Amino acid sequence: MTRDQIIANNPLAQFLSDCGYELRPAGANFVTSACPARRHKDYHRPVTIDTEKKVWHCNDCKIGGSVIDWVMAERNISAAEAMHILGGGRNGEVMVATYDYTDANGKLLYQVCRFEPKDFRQRRPDGHGGWIWNTQGVQRVLYNLPTVLGAQCVVVVEGEKDCDRLTALGFTATTNVCGAGKWRDDYSETLGGKDVIVVRDNDEPGQKHVAQVIASLTGKARSIKLLILPDHFHDVSDYIASLSPKAAGPAIAKLIADTPLWNCVDVDHDEPPPYQPPPRVSREDFHAYMPQHNYIFIPTRDLWPVSSVDARLPALLLPDGRTLKASKWLDRNRPVEQMTWAPGLPMLVENRLISEGGWIHRNGCKTFNLYRPPDIQLGRENRTGERGENSRCGTPVPYS
Ligand SMILES: [Zn+2]
Repeated sequence: MTRDQIIANNPLAQFLSDCGYELRPAGANFVTSACPARRHKDYHRPVTIDTEKKVWHCNDCKIGGSVIDWVMAERNISAAEAMHILGGGRNGEVMVATYDYTDANGKLLYQVCRFEPKDFRQRRPDGHGGWIWNTQGVQRVLYNLPTVLGAQCVVVVEGEKDCDRLTALGFTATTNVCGAGKWRDDYSETLGGKDVIVVRDNDEPGQKHVAQVIASLTGKARSIKLLILPDHFHDVSDYIASLSPKAAGPAIAKLIADTPLWNCVDVDHDEPPPYQPPPRVSREDFHAYMPQHNYIFIPTRDLWPVSSVDARLPALLLPDGRTLKASKWLDRNRPVEQMTWAPGLPMLVENRLISEGGWIHRNGCKTFNLYRPPDIQLGRENRTGERGENSRCGTPVPYS
């Protein structure tokens, strides 16, 4: 497209109002406080849009020109780049969101601007109310830095939009500028001593990115979890969008709670991280036996004391940063009221208790059946075989 065609195809007033700028009619023309060079006060409108001549002019800044000049000035780019942007569609790209990156005190350091069609660019304040379209020499910080510094539990995602969605649900979330592959070790210093949940986007760059993030956090964060979203959700925003506003927060809290702690040992940091290996012993291997307040280890039917359970199973990290001991979780979520020997019945006999002479019905109560039919026995042996030494011998191994 020629220069004139681009100017004709992008009527200035339309282009500017599509960008979100407020224009005030002035005869056949418009005036506005929007200016590509700097930020003028809202009530002051030094910029005139001449709709017939298809030009703008700022009386204060003494600059002006066509829509191409506007884009060049606003984004600090060449005429060729501006024409490329404007030639891409009827109105070229439109800025649809801005994300502020601030220092610890909330002072704006730089801003990520999102455009439609999807594109991101950074700019920084020029100190006079305007923008410089690069981030040269600017201190790089985590998104939401002031909040992150005050939180114990922080969720790391791969973009500002995901962050804002999680923040709206009550989580403390952060990300790094430029997205996948651009994590810096000083971000991990910021997260030192915190409980960090790293959310993986379901694509290859996402997988490589979390490898980099986790490698960098290892030894700095107090704990790390790698959160894998359910299948077919690309990122956490997709997942949230699939749920009702009420359900989204609890669903993500549950995902976090159900994710085991990342095991930092045996991870080869040069390789993409393996998916979270299943824990050798999990909460699903236990029931809480309430009459004695100890815990049935299902593979062997041994009873474990509370101290062994909490030594063997990681505590759960709650979204607000508190932790819940595994034993407490089992008390609440996997209690049984009785144990019995009942061939032919399932391992967990629900809503029934053994009383003198036989079964009685009792809603909400569970009886653990110690009997194991031979076929299940075989399956169990295969399963424990994969799980390694510790679960094959039923005795709890104390942590050194
Ligand atoms: Zn101006």
